[in-house]
Amino acid sequence: MKPIGPLPPEFADQRGELHIAGRSATDWAEHAGTTPCFVYDAAIVGTRVGRFRAAFPGVDLHYAMKANPYPPLLAAVATIVDGLDVASAGELTRALAVKPADAISFAGPGKRDPELVAAIEAGATLNLESEGEAERALVAGDRLGIAPRLAIRVNPDVELRGSGMRMGGRPSPFGIDAARAGALARRVIAAGADWRGWHVYAGSQALDAQAIIDTHAATLELTDRLSAEAGAEPPLVNLGGGFGVPYFAGDRALDIELVGAALTAALAGRTTRYAIELGRWLVAEAGVYLTRVVDRKESGGETFLVCDGGMHHQLAATGNLGTVVRRNYPVALARSTGDAAIEEVSVVGPLCTPLDRIGDHIGVPRAEPGDLIAVFMAGAYGATASPAAFLGHPAAVEILADSVP
Ligand SMILES: *Cc1c(COP(=O)(O)O)cnc(C)c1O
Repeated sequence: MKPIGPLPPEFADQRGELHIAGRSATDWAEHAGTTPCFVYDAAIVGTRVGRFRAAFPGVDLHYAMKANPYPPLLAAVATIVDGLDVASAGELTRALAVKPADAISFAGPGKRDPELVAAIEAGATLNLESEGEAERALVAGDRLGIAPRLAIRVNPDVELRGSGMRMGGRPSPFGIDAARAGALARRVIAAGADWRGWHVYAGSQALDAQAIIDTHAATLELTDRLSAEAGAEPPLVNLGGGFGVPYFAGDRALDIELVGAALTAALAGRTTRYAIELGRWLVAEAGVYLTRVVDRKESGGETFLVCDGGMHHQLAATGNLGTVVRRNYPVALARSTGDAAIEEVSVVGPLCTPLDRIGDHIGVPRAEPGDLIAVFMAGAYGATASPAAFLGHPAAVEILADSVP
């Protein structure tokens, strides 16, 4: 039997039928009208935001909306965070529907001219990823007669230790190498841009508080040096994020209070605004993916629960989104969470590929066709980061628990 990851705290102590936002999994599946479905509990996101506010007084909180751009969830999150970080013109359009432009920043390599124009026209901040993009943004601003709001994303000379996805400290498509960022800032300021400051993003999915504390210290040192080189105070320094969540057995939740205390001390006496941008830490634990067992079969002495959901909706849970070794997400038989496992099964999806495996040799109470399986940690990089068109099954229904009367 292989272990599963830890259930989020809001679900870990439940017994009997799983409840999400006070309603049973069966109710949610009925409400959705079909399975599979994603249910997002807005209250859990609110709890995370409250915890961030308490730990990071005076620091702006941005939501990296690529983690979950489902419009009702985005609208709810927008009311409790200070800014939205977007990565395409499509996300920009969704963000502008729920947040003023001056609270929106647009990062990401390969922004096309129409995307630059859309951001400049709207008044959103462009986080520049290269000198070439800076020149194209300045030209677009000239044509529009608008001083573009420009920040520079720096490819830092540090990396976030222990992060699941390192994005600094090496040659990179993201950001401008630290050695050239000061000169580019002088260039865009001299060209009349509305200078917005620095953006540094060193990695993702870090669970080690000390690694994040070290990265923050290095980032402050770096941006201080760059601001001196630029000869201008930055209105905002976006320190990145990278706060991880425990997906797998043995993962320990990040101690954000420790990170917050260190950052609060490091920022004492500073007048510049600082922001942290978070995706998964805010929303991952708020989402549950419910899929129904369609078939129960034996093969070669093993039992398979074949479900109507899988990697076309929840790619990450099948281990196919940025993981090297496949490990089990937290998964439960929804009608009897917390009950003792009595058999070992593999939970698989309906796609014709062995990659479509939600739970590999996990222990569960006896499950039959018709039962619901809950896959936790489904609030981030679920529906939005999965190959929904693959094999032509319908898209998953998504529900924000808050929006239900
Ligand atoms: C994806 C991304 C994020 C969010 O990452 P999480 O791991 O979901 O917190 C934040 N900032 C940038 C620049 C990103 O590309």
